[in-house]
Amino acid sequence: MLVALPRHSGIDAALDYLSPVALPVGQLVRVPLGRRVVMGVAWDGGASEPADPGHPDDRAHPSHPTHPADPVAVGEAADLKPVAEVLEALPPLDAGWCELVRFAAGYYQRSLGELALTVLPPELRDVDGVQLQRRLKRLAKRSAVPSIAGEVPGAPTLPALSEDQQAVLTALAASAPATHLLHGVTGSGKTEVYLRAAEAELAKGRQVLVLVPEINLTPQLEARFAQRFPAHRLVSLHSGLTPAQRLQHWLAAHLGQAQLVLGTRMAVFASLPRLGLIVVDEEHDPSYKQQEGARYSARDLAVWRGRQANVAVLLGSATPSLETWLNATPAPEGPGRYQRLAMPRRIGDGGLPAVRLLDLQRVVGMHGSRVMREHPLAPELLAALRERVARGEQSFVLLNRRGYAPVLHCTGCGWKSGCPHCSAWRVFHKVDRSLRCHHCGFSERVPRACPVCGDPDIQPMGRGTERLEEQLAEQLPGARIGRIDADTTRSKGSLESQLAAVHAGEVDVLVGTQMVAKGHDFRRMTLVAAVNADSALFSSDFRAPERLFALLLQAAGRAGRDAAHAARSEMWIQTWYPDHPLYQALQAQDYEAFAASQLAERRVASLPPFSCLALLRAEARSQEAALGFLHEAARAAEALGALQAGVQIYPPVPAALQRVANVERAQMLLEAPLRPPLQRLLAAWVPRLQEANRGEHRVLRWAVDVDPQAI
Ligand code: ADP
Ligand code: ZN
Ligand code: ZN
Repeated sequence: MLVALPRHSGIDAALDYLSPVALPVGQLVRVPLGRRVVMGVAWDGGASEPADPGHPDDRAHPSHPTHPADPVAVGEAADLKPVAEVLEALPPLDAGWCELVRFAAGYYQRSLGELALTVLPPELRDVDGVQLQRRLKRLAKRSAVPSIAGEVPGAPTLPALSEDQQAVLTALAASAPATHLLHGVTGSGKTEVYLRAAEAELAKGRQVLVLVPEINLTPQLEARFAQRFPAHRLVSLHSGLTPAQRLQHWLAAHLGQAQLVLGTRMAVFASLPRLGLIVVDEEHDPSYKQQEGARYSARDLAVWRGRQANVAVLLGSATPSLETWLNATPAPEGPGRYQRLAMPRRIGDGGLPAVRLLDLQRVVGMHGSRVMREHPLAPELLAALRERVARGEQSFVLLNRRGYAPVLHCTGCGWKSGCPHCSAWRVFHKVDRSLRCHHCGFSERVPRACPVCGDPDIQPMGRGTERLEEQLAEQLPGARIGRIDADTTRSKGSLESQLAAVHAGEVDVLVGTQMVAKGHDFRRMTLVAAVNADSALFSSDFRAPERLFALLLQAAGRAGRDAAHAARSEMWIQTWYPDHPLYQALQAQDYEAFAASQLAERRVASLPPFSCLALLRAEARSQEAALGFLHEAARAAEALGALQAGVQIYPPVPAALQRVANVERAQMLLEAPLRPPLQRLLAAWVPRLQEANRGEHRVLRWAVDVDPQAI
């Protein structure tokens, strides 16, 4: 009996144990490992199959792992240790779950045991059968709920569907299970579509999985689902839960007691024995990609899981990722893997806010160059804010940078507040007069004078949300200014209370980062302004334009959501580059034109979705060591025939953020026109890297990132 175990020094994914009875695959067990007893998952011995690299997105049949559970320490039967305990109180994880984990481990180049055990609730690792018995019993008591929504008194009255919603739902109902892109403008009522699609599955006794990109967005969606389906049990899965809650919620899903599971990316691995539908809200959001350990894309895995379980997947977005957009482009222009469902109109025909590009060259021409140096907002924009305040409407000023100022500098000698441990500036936070590094956390009180020349005149350069809030308060006397960003929402419940204050109309002008731009349904907002969007225009990250476009359109979508104000709702963008094609597309609110132009650029540059990438990252005490390891890795890849297979290896380079917490970082990009050759190479290459790192170029850490978000 093979048992998948968490990665243990020098031991791979799975070990062989003796079991008196044949255990079903997916059965949770406890087995001795060294001096400890640890949890594992019974697995089939499945002889290594040749790599059949699929992609979460590929239409091809689910593939098998590249290195399935190869037992490292298979001994003679006499040497095998017996399984210590079979957690019989729990039904085994089903075949769909096991396949998903197997696929993810293979695709993202992690060991099966590591992946299996990191996606299970941590608390589960420590419980034994007796404890589990007790908890379950408790669960069984609380879960006595009827399951037919219609029979509950006081069932919520449903809104009449819009024409677009109706059309989409009809198409969904008529379609065989497939992956659908629900491309709906902000305020088109995508959530209502999710609710109705869920209702249809719940009525059949199936479970529904809803993924959201951020914890912040779970409470409001949870509330809407809970309100709509009072007779069904809904559980959430995200990192904000206590370990005990997470276990309880996970068990409820696993035992089929919870019909609705709503969560962040980790929830894609929920055990759902009666899965009927997967919803991925804001599918374009980069938060769906895990950035450490097994660097999986929950969106891509959701698509894979849906296909494998033969259930519908709904990917919702106003600004789909280019990968998804291409996949949803019908032949002959695209592969037509996904069905495209469009909701181009807002509920109530409110119309989208008009986008105004405020040309800063002209502003300076009219008012002189001092005006933009001393004030964050152009006089025209301030006037527009004042108008809103006077009318009792709300505005949102988006500045995607927290803190008071991104850097302090000395007017005497030019000293800047660098972080001694990172290749980054330390941000000035005025609340506690600290200089804080947002990368390593190193924090110090602001010095009284320049640490180099002693000049007391040290000044903030640039502006973050904290400073913007202060300046707006000066410039808009009498207006109630609020601010929401990662700094104001650190304590539990503070985001909810701040959002509630905005909804209650206690704030006139809200300053905030992208955190506010997503999802929230503010009813009194009629003006959204982006004041420093230009900084993202010239980023070296090839996805930066896509991200910026999505963020701005999303932010614009916070305005005019109430049809009563829609006509006078506006999005203002203060920019030095009003003719930039991105802003022009935004002004036309033309996602399709923007996507087409971006895809054309990506095609020429052979970037995703027209190529497949993997990034090998290395961290070491010196840049030399990191690069040395990568060079050795490159040689190993060449020896494995990378070039012949069509996999291009780019030269190792220092990472964009080269040093963090005194650790040097470097990376190397691999690119291939298709997935299979890249996956085959990775499967053969990754084990070699383990060996390579025992040699002279030892690094502290290395990791392969398949389908990296940024390169
Ligand atoms: P999206 O997610 O597409 O931005 P929402 O799902 O948040 O849009 O819907 C926008 C608003 O319209 C919400 O307040 C929602 O309650 C409301 N709404 C959605 N569908 C309908 C409908 N059919 N009739 C009336 N109001 C609706
Ligand atoms: Zn100085
Ligand atoms: Zn630092």
